[in-house]
Formats: sequence, C-alpha cells, structure tokens
Amino acid sequence: MMMMMMDVMGMGAGDTVTAGTTNFDGTLVVRCTASGGDAAVSNIVTLVETAQGRTAPIQRLSDIVAGKFAYGVMGVAAATFLFWSGFGAKLFPRVLETSLSGGASKAAATLALSLQLACNVLVVACPCALGLAAPTAVLVGTGAGARRGLLIRGGDVLETASNVDTVVFDKTGTLTTGKPTVVRVITSDNINDTECLSYAAAIEENSSHPIAHAIVQQALADTQIPQRRVSSDSFNQVPGKGAEGIVDGKNIYVGNLDWVVQKTGAPSSEDVHTAKLNPGHTVVYVGMEHNIVGSIEIADQVRHNALEVLKRLKDSGITPVMLSGDQLTTSQHVASQLGIDTENVIAGVTPLGKVDAINSLKAKGHIVAMVGDGVNDAAALAEADVGIAMGGGVAVASEVADIVLLGDRLPQVIDTFRLSKMTMNTIRQNMAWAFGYNMICLPLAAGVMLPINGLGLTPALSGALMGCSSLAVMANSLLLQVRASKIKS
Ligand code: ADP
Ligand code: MG
Repeated sequence: MMMMMMDVMGMGAGDTVTAGTTNFDGTLVVRCTASGGDAAVSNIVTLVETAQGRTAPIQRLSDIVAGKFAYGVMGVAAATFLFWSGFGAKLFPRVLETSLSGGASKAAATLALSLQLACNVLVVACPCALGLAAPTAVLVGTGAGARRGLLIRGGDVLETASNVDTVVFDKTGTLTTGKPTVVRVITSDNINDTECLSYAAAIEENSSHPIAHAIVQQALADTQIPQRRVSSDSFNQVPGKGAEGIVDGKNIYVGNLDWVVQKTGAPSSEDVHTAKLNPGHTVVYVGMEHNIVGSIEIADQVRHNALEVLKRLKDSGITPVMLSGDQLTTSQHVASQLGIDTENVIAGVTPLGKVDAINSLKAKGHIVAMVGDGVNDAAALAEADVGIAMGGGVAVASEVADIVLLGDRLPQVIDTFRLSKMTMNTIRQNMAWAFGYNMICLPLAAGVMLPINGLGLTPALSGALMGCSSLAVMANSLLLQVRASKIKS
C-alpha cells in the first residue's frame, strides 16, 4: 500500500512499509498509493455489507404475501366487524353473555364486541414476521460466514449453494498446495541445465503462476545459475498455456508441450521429457527460438486434507470433478490419489475450455459450484452457479467469485455448503412459523372459537402475540449463529 522512497537502515527504495514498522533513525519518505478505503480489509467490509442486503429468492414468496398482506388483513377486519355486528351475535347469543350481565344494552354489547374483534384482527396480524424471515437469517448466515473466513456475496448465493450437486475443482493451487518444486531438468544437447533454468527463470520471474514460482525459486537457490532478465515489455503470459519473452535477444517460451510446440514451430513429436519420475508430476517445456531446448519436471503436493474433504463431499451426495489446464496423465494420477472417478477428470483445457466444461455440466441439469484459485479460473468461476475463490481474496478470481475463502483451506468448501444449508433451513423454519402464526392467530382474533368454547383474544393479548411472533423469528435467526459456530472442519 505504501512505498518507501528513500533508503533507511536495512530497507531500500521501493520497499513496502507495513503496519507497525518502527523507524529508529533516518528519514522516511512514504508514498501512499491508495487510501484506507481501498485497503483489502475495507473491501471485505464493503463486500459483507452489500452481501447482507442481497436476499435469497425464496424470500420472493413472503415479499409477495407481505405486500398484499395489509389489504388482506383490513378486509378480514372489516368482514369480522360486519359479521359480528350483522348476524354473528344473533346467531350465537352466548358470546354476549358477559357484557349483558354487566348491564349493557344488547346493541351496545354487540357493537363493542364487533369493534374489539375487528381491532384484534388488525393488531394480531404480523406481516413483519414474514418480512423478517429471510433477511434476518441471511444477515446472520453471511455474518457467521465472514467470521469463519467465508465471504459470501448474498442470500441468493447461499440459496444456490445449498442446492449444489457437483463441485468442480481446479487442480493446481486448489487440490494441490500450489507450492510446487522443481525435481528435475532435462535438456537437449545444445544447452545445459543451468542455462535452461536461467532462461526459464528470467521469463517466470514476471509470472505469478505457482509453476513460475517454483522455477524462480530453483534458479535463486543455485548461485551457479546466471541471472537473466527479459527485455522490457517483451513478457507475455497466456493463462493455462505458458509465458514468453525475449531474453538475451532470443525468443523464449515456457509452458505446456502443445503451446511451446506451436510457438517454436518445433516438430510436435519433440518431447524431450519422455519418462517422468512420477506420473503425478507436471512437466513444462522451454522453447528457444525454433527449438525445444529443455523440460522442467515439477512436483506439487496434494493438500493434506484434500482426500478427506472430497470423501465428505461425496458422502453428502455431491460429485467432485477435477478441471485442470495440466496434462491429462498428471491430472488423472492426482485424481486417482483423491478418489475422483476417471470420467470426472477434465484436463488439458484452456481457461475458455474450463468455461465450456462448466456449461456442459450445467446443460446436463447439474447445479455446479467451481472452486479455483487463479486468473485462469476466473471465467469459469463467473460461469458456475456458485464460484468459490480460494487463496486469499485479492486476486482476479476473488473479484468474480460468489464466495471467497479467505483462509485458503479446502475444508472451508464443506463449511460453505453446510452454512448455506443451515441458513436455508432457518429461513424455511422462519417462514413456516410466520405463515403458521398468521393462519392460526387471525381466525382466533376474529373470534372463530368464541361460539365454540368462548376462547377469544383481547387487543392487549393480540399485541403481545404479534410482538412475540416477530421476536420468535429474530431469535430463531440469531440461533443460527450458535448452530453455525458448531460447524467443525
Ligand atoms: P490448473 O488449471 O491446474 O490450475 P493452469 O491452467 O494454471 O493449471 O496451467 C495449465 C498448464 O499451463 C500448466 O500445467 C503449465 O503446463 C502451463 N502453464 C500455465 N502458465 C504457465 C507459466 N507461467 N509457466 C509455465 N507453464 C505454464
Ligand atoms: Mg489453479
């Protein structure tokens, strides 16, 4: 956020000044590049606040009912008055017994009773319980999510998430740790390993892809490897394929085999890396001008809890699917470790291919959630019914996703689905309560039980009931907070 402009002990120009930095001696010139309102935390606050205002489609029913409710209730009150003042009291003379024994005239007693019952109807009717049913649960649900690092963009998202039956996972960085390491470099005759890594690292220095990070780390770890840089403005990254640039006047390409073959124009059979150390490893190729000069084998660990998370998802009736830009063989090997069925592995796809894959799943009638971490997943995240971004909440993926998992932990995916189900259950309970309350209390207030057993309401009791009804809905929504805090992942 803030950039240092002058050298201070141990720090150089261009360093970032983080919160809590202490300046012992020397002068600091700090440049502020954005104000507090643009900071990540404040973005999160805005996101949660907007989310709490976005309600679930299920609410439409109660909104429609609540909208017409007032007219309905006035109608029922008028009908109640007309009925009791007209012929109700004559039909059931017993209802006037108490008033008459107090000495009132029959006409006065009838009028008082009719007015009181009509008032009861007006007072006991509770459209607020209907109106509060969904928004309060959404408010508590999204709030409880935010507290656990699940940023959910609204009630509509919670509702769709509760119906998801297929979860598509990106491989690199989502099912794997996304912190891969270089395990082997193989080169052709015209170049040696250190040169190959040096050229590759010069390109990858500019990329944020996990593979790029692995290559740069490997190059930095070995001091024998000469440091090179891409010439200015020549760097270009193709999501899901690779990265290219000009280094020492030569066109260098680092990426998957097809793309490097296409870029260099080398024969497509030119796979220098015929046998991998492990079928689960990823191989990227280094192209120089018109040749493939080497390949770099990269190992990425499967997240330690991935197997369990996928098992729990399957147990809850959700099908996991793997979607990756990586080679099919690598992806299938990783999938087999995780118990994902072979037919549910879609590999070797470009970012647009990922969108198509999501669309074809949707076309088959599935409600699809996509979990991804990178730029290459952004389009697919936007296309899925529910897009879930992992890995911190700052990347492009987070901007288009419906849900952002701040903790970068895979079990949070399960938490999300559980929380969405809990919230929807709370909404349904609230609505059942609100409808049920009105269905029972309105007739009671209108005096339907009076002729049968003398059971009726007074305006005071009606008022109390109506207050309690709203409170009950609020309390049930607040209980969601307690229930959600028990979600263990
Ligand atoms: P995933 O879908 O599993 O997250 P990506 O779509 O990010 O994988 O990448 C797919 C493939 O594209 C990688 O396996 C790699 O071969 C290649 N690739 C993408 N970006 C780069 C890069 N910056 N450097 C090298 N290879 C890359
Ligand atoms: Mg990825």
